[in-house]
Amino acid sequence: MDLSLTGLSGAKSDSEEQHVKVLVLGSGPAGFSAALYAARADLEPVVLTGMEHGGQVSLTYIVENYPGFPEGIGGAEMVELFQKQAERFGARIEFDTAVDVDLATRPYRIKTYNTTYLADTLIITTGATARHLGVPGESELTGRGVSYCATCDGWFFKDKDVAVVGGGDSALEEGIFLTRYAKSVSIIHRRDELRAGPVLQNRANSNPKIKFIWNTVVSEIKGKDAVQTLCLQDVNTGETREQRFDGIFIFIGHTPNTQLFENQLEMDERGYLQTDRLMRTNLPGVFAAGEAADPHFRQVITSAGMGAAAAMQAGHFLDETVGYQS
Ligand code: NAP
Repeated sequence: MDLSLTGLSGAKSDSEEQHVKVLVLGSGPAGFSAALYAARADLEPVVLTGMEHGGQVSLTYIVENYPGFPEGIGGAEMVELFQKQAERFGARIEFDTAVDVDLATRPYRIKTYNTTYLADTLIITTGATARHLGVPGESELTGRGVSYCATCDGWFFKDKDVAVVGGGDSALEEGIFLTRYAKSVSIIHRRDELRAGPVLQNRANSNPKIKFIWNTVVSEIKGKDAVQTLCLQDVNTGETREQRFDGIFIFIGHTPNTQLFENQLEMDERGYLQTDRLMRTNLPGVFAAGEAADPHFRQVITSAGMGAAAAMQAGHFLDETVGYQS
């Protein structure tokens, strides 16, 4: 047996390298659930929070679809509770970010801003980032009428007029979802042809609350404390007009945060990590969970479930390969 894999050499192999059994990259629902399960299996996981502690859910005003919180719970508070629970069982949380990953040999070498980890197993939960329009007013009014999640925030727009930006499946699916609440949903698309599939197109076209604004981009989002108007620019004529809206939902795609693993792990053409049903990537002892590996569900509960599953598999892997008792 390769002693370097046993972890018996202690937590630190030298002043710059720390040997850990389970290293979790990311601190969203998948990361903290993985940490909780790994900690309860006595695997002493270390969580690197990454730049966005808590991930996307920490930016969500309220989460109302996670079982156990009948009145809902604030996204930031939820992250705090996730972390507290993982720490209670011994997970170590480091406010640090992986900057370089070498998966050529085990233990895997993860360099961060502060140190280098040698990890027997790696659980990647680096999440995804909703793409932004990058127009004036967008970041200032995020959470105050600008949203990237209809499931999270749709309820706040009961009987309101909302805009949806994008012409893909997400824009149509989320736009249709928003018609449960909103008085009207205007889908603003930069072309005159949708990218979304025919089923969603038919459903959107037959929904009386949905209107389309074609060949148009949003050039500015205006409002004092909340969204009030959008500047809409016709891409053919260049003309701009202002239209009143109470909210704007932006669905122009997500980017999985997986750039660190390029050429080392298998990904699909959009950069989502490829896993099997046991959360295993193509490399032994490397697991992925949550939105870095999930272009489909993108919910707190599904990410948490995937994180827990990945940690259980990491435990099995360690039992089988290096003889840890979990
Ligand atoms: P997507 O398919 O990449 O569509 C993004 C949309 O945003 C496109 O219509 C694009 O316009 C537009 N867009 C991109 N950048 C823009 C910008 N800067 N300004 C204005 N518009 C911009 O992304 P998605 O809709 O999130 O879907 C991602 C993947 O998940 C797809 O494979 C999709 O099929 C899948 N998905 C499937 C379902 C389902 O099957 N129910 C639901 C959701 C997502 P252009 O069309 O001009 O490029």
